[in-house]
Amino acid sequence: MKASQYYFPTLRQAPAEAEIPSHRLLLRGGFIRPLSAGIFSFLPLGLRVLRKVENVIREEMGAAGALEVFLPVLHPRELWERTGRWDSFQPTPLRTQDRNERVFLLGPTHEEVITDLVARDLTSYKQVPLTLYQIQTKFRDEIRPRGGLIRVKEFTMKDAYSFDLNREGLDHSYQAMYDAYVRIFQRLELPVVVVEAEAGSMGGHDTREFMVLNESGEDTIFICDTCGYSANVECAQPAAPPGARSHDSGDGPQLAQTPNARTIDQVCAQLKTTPDRLIKTLLYRADGGFVAALIRGDRDLNEFKLRGYLGTEQLTMATPEEILQVTGAPVGFSGPVGLPEEVRIVADCEIQAMAEAVVGANRADAHLLGVRVGVDFQPAEYVDLREARHGDPCGKCSRGTLQAHRAIEVGHVFKLGTKYSAALDAIVDDEQGQQQPLVMGCYGIGVSRIVAALVEAHHDDNGISWPATAAPFQVAVLLLDPDQPEPRAIAEKLVAALEAAGLEAILDDRAERPGVKFKDADLIGYPLRAVIGRRTAESGEIELRRRRDAQEQVVSADQAVGTARAMLAS
Ligand SMILES: [Zn+2]
Repeated sequence: MKASQYYFPTLRQAPAEAEIPSHRLLLRGGFIRPLSAGIFSFLPLGLRVLRKVENVIREEMGAAGALEVFLPVLHPRELWERTGRWDSFQPTPLRTQDRNERVFLLGPTHEEVITDLVARDLTSYKQVPLTLYQIQTKFRDEIRPRGGLIRVKEFTMKDAYSFDLNREGLDHSYQAMYDAYVRIFQRLELPVVVVEAEAGSMGGHDTREFMVLNESGEDTIFICDTCGYSANVECAQPAAPPGARSHDSGDGPQLAQTPNARTIDQVCAQLKTTPDRLIKTLLYRADGGFVAALIRGDRDLNEFKLRGYLGTEQLTMATPEEILQVTGAPVGFSGPVGLPEEVRIVADCEIQAMAEAVVGANRADAHLLGVRVGVDFQPAEYVDLREARHGDPCGKCSRGTLQAHRAIEVGHVFKLGTKYSAALDAIVDDEQGQQQPLVMGCYGIGVSRIVAALVEAHHDDNGISWPATAAPFQVAVLLLDPDQPEPRAIAEKLVAALEAAGLEAILDDRAERPGVKFKDADLIGYPLRAVIGRRTAESGEIELRRRRDAQEQVVSADQAVGTARAMLAS
C-alpha cells in the first residue's frame, strides 16, 4: 500500500471538543470523523483497526464453538412487548415507524430477536447446546454522548447468546465464553480487570464486566487492596459495621425546630451535630407503592442496590407533591417515625449500628432528636444500600480497603436463565419428553469501544502505539526522498518482501518533508517503521525502529524482513 494513494487526513491540532486522548488521537490520526454528536464515520485506517479487532473476536468465538449470525437492526414493537421491555428498557431505545405506521425500535440489544429466532426452529434437547453470535451495529439514545468512541449513539458490538437445556449446561457455555473473552483481551494486549456487576435492564445473574483501568473511563470500579475482590460501583460491597446496638437507654424522640434546614449541612449546623448521627430518609415510588430508604447522613444511597433488593425496574424518586401527601411535610423533613403503615421502610446496614439518631420529623421545619433505631421505628429489613467509597473497608475480607478506579467497560458476560425463553416460547423437549424453556446466557463486547480503549491503553505524547494485532499496518516504510529512483526501488522491494512474509506494510512515498513523515508515523502509531534515507542510498542499510520503546536496529536490505518480524514478535 502506498501512502500517496491512501486516505488518512491527519490533523496537527485536535478539535476542542475532544477531551480524552483516544478521541483526540483518533481524530488527529485520520481514523474517525464525527457526523453528529455521538455518531462517527470510520476512515480507511480506522476501519482496518476495527476489522482487526473483529477478526480476533471471530477467531476466538469460533474456537469456543459459537456460530456467527446476522440479525436485523429493526425490531417490531410487538416482540419487545412480549418480554415487557418495550416500556422498561433503559435508556429508552430509539424508535421509528414505517409507512403503515408500524412501530419499530433500533436494536440496543438482541435478546428478543435471537430468542424468537431459535424458538421457531429448536424443538429437542438434541439441538442444544447452541451459542450464536453476531457483530452488529447497536443504537443507544445517549443523553450526553461523549469521549469519542466510548459513549456513542451508534456503535459496533459483538453479542453472543447461549441456549442450554439446564443450569449445568449454561454453566458450561458461560465458562467457554468467559475463557474466550480472556483470550481475546490477551491477544489484543488490552489489560482487563474482571469485576462483579449488576445486570440492569437485561436481568440475570453471575454478571461480570471486563474493565480496562483508565482515567478516561466513565465507570468507577472498586478493587480491594488485600483480597483482590473487585466490583463496579453499582454493586461494590463495603464491610457492614459490627452488629446491632441496643437502644434500651434514652428517653426517646424530642422535637427540635430546624427552620429552613433542608440539607444535611444545614441541619447539622442548627442542631450542632455531625452527618454520621443523622439518618436520611429518601422516599421512592416502586411498583405502585412507596418505599422509604434510610441511609446515614454522611453516605450516598446506591439506587442500583435498592432496585436490586426490591427486585423492580420501576423505581423513581417521589415528587415533592407525593412527599407532602405521604409524610405531611415538604421535601427535606421526611423521617421514619410515624410514617403511614403502607410505606415500606428499608434501612442500610449501618443504620442498625447507630446509637440515637437525628431524623426528619415529617413536619415542616422540624427534626427529631434521640430517635432509637428499632424502638421508635422498625425497618422491614436492613440491607446493603450505600454507595461504596474509596477507602471503605472491604465487604469480602474485612481486612483490606476498597480502592476506587476509573475504568472503561469493554465486555460483559451474564446468565439470563429463562426470562426470554419463557416469554417467547423457546421451549424444547428434554430426554423424558417434558417441555423445558431453554436456559440462556448473554455475552457482549463493545467492538468500536475497544478501538478507543486500545488507544487509551497504548499512547504517548506523540501519538498512538498500536499493539501489532490491532495496528492498521504493522510496518511503515518511510521513503525520505521519493524523487530518487534508487532508494525508491529499495523501498518498493522491501514493502513487497514484507507483504510476501505476511506483514502489512504501508510505503510513505508522499511528497512531504521527512519531519512530516516521522510525525505522522508516530501519530498513527505503526508498531514498526523502516527508514529508507541517505544511509540506505550510501550503504544499503535500513533503519528499523519500534514505536513502543524506540528500540532501533540497522540492518542490510536482505536482513530487514527477518529482523522486522523478530522486532514485532518480541
Ligand atoms: Zn478484601
